[in-house]
Order: sequence, then structure tokens, then C-alpha cells
Amino acid sequence: MTQTRSSSVTNFDSWKHAYAARAANLSVSEVRALFSVVSRPEVVSLAGGMPDVSALDGALIEEAFNSMMASRRNYALQYGGGQGDLRLREQIQEIMLLDGVQGSVDDIMITTGSQHALELLADLFLDAGDVVMVEAPSYVGAVGIFRHKEAHIEHVFTDEDGISPEALAEAADRMTAAGKKVKLLYLVPNFANPSGVTLSAERRQQVLQVCKERGILIIEDNPYGLLYFENQPPKALRAFDSEGVVYLGSFSKILSPGLRVGYVLAPPAIRDKLILANESAILSPATFAQMLVSEYLSISDWKGQIDRYRNLYREKRDAALEALEQYLPRVQTTKPNGGFFLWLTLPQGLNSKEMLPLAVTELVAYTPGTAFYGDGRGANNIRVCYSHPTAENVKVGIKRLSKVINLQLDLLDTFRAE
Ligand code: PMP
Repeated sequence: MTQTRSSSVTNFDSWKHAYAARAANLSVSEVRALFSVVSRPEVVSLAGGMPDVSALDGALIEEAFNSMMASRRNYALQYGGGQGDLRLREQIQEIMLLDGVQGSVDDIMITTGSQHALELLADLFLDAGDVVMVEAPSYVGAVGIFRHKEAHIEHVFTDEDGISPEALAEAADRMTAAGKKVKLLYLVPNFANPSGVTLSAERRQQVLQVCKERGILIIEDNPYGLLYFENQPPKALRAFDSEGVVYLGSFSKILSPGLRVGYVLAPPAIRDKLILANESAILSPATFAQMLVSEYLSISDWKGQIDRYRNLYREKRDAALEALEQYLPRVQTTKPNGGFFLWLTLPQGLNSKEMLPLAVTELVAYTPGTAFYGDGRGANNIRVCYSHPTAENVKVGIKRLSKVINLQLDLLDTFRAE
């Protein structure tokens, strides 16, 4: 990654007396803390969840840009409406249909990436102490937002088939019995960040039922659904319930995260509040970026580009699984059918956070599992992101990682034998 944080930004002390109390919940995430390390060229980074934008056809992006400047320059350089551009919203309808989601253009709102949608929704629904239920583990960026809102983050048991509906019902009822307000369920049902797992079709129905019975709003975050390798994932939850599910999509993974264009399909009851919240936060989503995306969609074979990404990430996933089998047979891994991530469970006794400096010495970086929990769990997990390095470097990275892990295991074995 190229970003670095200026030291003046991280010096919180001089204005400590003036911060709102909730600012204490804003801390440097473990992923962000790695930025400066992973930008070194000799380090293979399996850390940040970045798409491989080198697979984009640059000439096509330029063509979209030129076409936008020729035909819509004044519009692109002007403020826009708070809900986002109508033509882009119509194009988004077509994209969502690929996930089985039908929605009116009136219910779609453009956001500055789906991260922004999460922030708006959390702000709209969560008072301090309210419960938001999430997968175990869950997306670090969402956990960070919920923590900042001083919500109670309840991780619910999740396995290879996604979140458990029984555990979800049990957790919701337990929280309610304890006098808490259970407001939201946040889910990444397809090729989840960080675990790579997909919620089964059967469980989707059960999860919908559990939430409907209890008046819990579902946030369905789906940035990876179109990047499947073998089989297309089951239909989105939103395809079965237009009132109880807020559906989030993004162009970050199917096109480019630099454009910062995402979208929400909201139940009509929520939509107007969301648009007001969007206007209050940013006046209007960036017209320039919206126009560029819209133009790109209209002049290019964007589905062909998604296929290119799918083939590329499949190759990298295969490289990662092959290398894990070869070099780290004692480590358990999920086997994602799409997306960017796989989730390792290390043998008992190893601590991924403590091991990270050693890994960096071996020139490989990863994200420790604790980043994906709000409650300190995940110490013997690692998220491996295979999307950005070349397939060859994914293998090199895992080989380097194996050196660190196997050394730790040997030490543990020796210690236990004594
Ligand atoms: N949700 C999930 C599950 C993600 O993995 C990410 C990006 N890593 C986001 C939301 C935010 O993406 P963006 O704001 O770029 O659309």
C-alpha cells in the first residue's frame, strides 16, 4: 500500500481534553498499522484486502474518462443530488440482478464506497449500548464503525456454511432478556471478509426468519458476490425480503476502489432517512467518480472484466491452497469459492499477533485474527489475502510464513517434550 499516516495525525494527546468521549473508540486498526511495513517492495503482503487493479484495461478507463469529459464535463464537475446519479442507479439495477436482487431506482442511493454506507447506517440505528450481531469473525472496518458508535458487538458462531441461525436466535434472545436493544445483524454472506465462507441457501432463509420474528434489521454487505470461482453463491437475502434487508454493493472489487463508489438498496421506509444522512454528511456523492463509473459501464464489456478478475483470483486462491498444503499441513484453512480471503486456524499455543514481527523479518505480512473480533478472540487465527500479490508471490509469501510457524511449532514441541 502506498498510504502512510503523518505523525501529527496520530498525536492525539494535545487535544485529549476536547475529544468527545466516543473518540476513545477510534484507534489505529491492526490492518492500518501494517501499511508502512507492507509497502516495502521486498515484503510479500498477504495483509491488506486490495484488488489487483493491474488486471484492468487501462485504455478502457481512459476511453471512459475522455468520453465523460467530452459529453458530460460540466455535469461531472458540478454538485449532484444526495441520492446519486439516476443513470448510474439504473445501471446498478442491472448489476444487482446478477445477484438475484430486484430493486427500484428510487430505493438505490450512491455512497462513497460501501464503507460510507456502513457508517451512515450505524449512525442512523445505533445508540450507545445497542446490540449489533455479526459473524465470528467479522469485517474489521464494520467492527471499527460499530465500536465507534459504542455499540455492543455480539459475535455469533459461524462455520463453513456461514453464521448459525440457532446461535443467532439464542444470542438475540439472551441479549433481549438482559434488557438490551438488539437492532442490527451485519453480514457478509458471500466469500466473507475475513473468513472466505459463504452462507448456505438454507441458512439464508432461517436467518431471515430469525430476524423477522425479532424485528432485527439485516445489513447484507456484498462486495464479493460476483467474484465466484466455481459456483455462483445462493441468491442474496435481499432477493427474499425487501423490507427487512438493507443491501450494500460496491464498485471497489469489480472495478476499482480508488473511485470510491458504492451503493445501498434500502427498504423504502429507511431510504429517505438515509438520503438525508448522506446529504448531511457529504452533500452529494462525488459526481465525477459516478460519471466515470457510469461511462465505463456503458462503453465497456464490464461483465468480461469481472470474468477476468474471477479467473485471476481463482488462480491465486489455488496457489494459496496448494502452498498451504505443501508447507503448512498442520494449519487448518477455509476453502473459499470466491473473493479475496482465506482464514487460517493455527495449532493451539501459537499467537498470530505476537508472531507478526517475526513474519515481517521473514519478509511476509498478514493480518492477525484479533483484528476481526471486537472481544479479543482470534489470537490463533490469520487472515490471508491472496488477491493482490502475483500467484507466484502468494506461494513465496506462504512459504515464508511457514518458516515462522514451523519454527514456533518446533519450539512448542520441544517445550512440551521437556
Ligand atoms: N465491506 C467489506 C466486507 C469489505 O471487505 C470492504 C473493503 N475491504 C468494504 C465493505 C468497504 O469497501 P468500499 O468502501 O471500498 O466499497
